Amino acid sequence: MLLLSFQQAYAAIAISSTRVWPAQDYTRLTIESKKSIRHNLFTISNPDRLVIDLENVELGSPLNELAKKIGDNDPYIKSARVGYFKPGVVRLVLDLKSEVKPQLFVLKPVSEYGYRLVLDVYPAHPIDPLMALLEQTEAAIPEVASAPTAAGQPTPVDDKVLVSQGLDIAKSSPPVITAPSFPELRARTLIIAIDAGHGGEDPGARGRYGSLEKNITLAIARKVKTLIDETPNMRGVLIRDGDYFIPLIGRVVKARKVNADLFISIHADAFIKPKARGSSVFALSEHGATSTAARWLAKKENEADLIGGVNL
Ligand SMILES: [Zn+2]
Repeated sequence: MLLLSFQQAYAAIAISSTRVWPAQDYTRLTIESKKSIRHNLFTISNPDRLVIDLENVELGSPLNELAKKIGDNDPYIKSARVGYFKPGVVRLVLDLKSEVKPQLFVLKPVSEYGYRLVLDVYPAHPIDPLMALLEQTEAAIPEVASAPTAAGQPTPVDDKVLVSQGLDIAKSSPPVITAPSFPELRARTLIIAIDAGHGGEDPGARGRYGSLEKNITLAIARKVKTLIDETPNMRGVLIRDGDYFIPLIGRVVKARKVNADLFISIHADAFIKPKARGSSVFALSEHGATSTAARWLAKKENEADLIGGVNL
């Protein structure tokens, strides 16, 4: 009896699944298992590498496949190798493309997931979303700037000053009735933040035939952005443009960084009865959900951070 429990305690932990979510914001690696894994992370420079030691785990196909899941499109990880470092310790080595800020943490079982050991690889020098937007906008300026005004004269403009002014005063700009000059035109550009719900580890709702809400919301968000960009004086900014997870607060922070005038969050709910049609409308309720169905829907959306995985 004593021997049995001793063996059980020291049986190597089987890895049930590994996943990689590459994105410009950060790349996430997930190692899932039924038991929590003891781990150790350290970095080596020249060249930049991340090393993760996993104690008492099986080196099976899920871990071996992790190395193959690192694609050329990954912004931060060049390649991965895995092998036994010493008896009882499996070592995962990630070769990096640039200097990074890693975070390694454990998520407790939630929804359909077991324990998840999560490595988030953030860039040491992240791209500022406002700068990215300004660069896109500046690239679009020459044709507008060189176009003659109503008086037949090109408007002399200092691109950088105008663009930043335009974004700052967008909300306070008075309505212009006559044909606007370029600075006025720029000042009236509305920035619309388009947020595709869920993503990465958080699939959102599941359709009857296996479609995932996160993919549907992203497809809709991209179409909405195209429509907005085709509309004069409007520009759409995708909060999430890829299959990765952003916590709820992170989505708001990103919208604020680009001085968004409007935030649209796109979701595609599912319900337990296939007959359900129409839309679900959420309203602030200080006393909790008003019905069982409302509670069920609200719980699904509010769980997003737990399922998506936030390092608390
Ligand atoms: Zn949703």
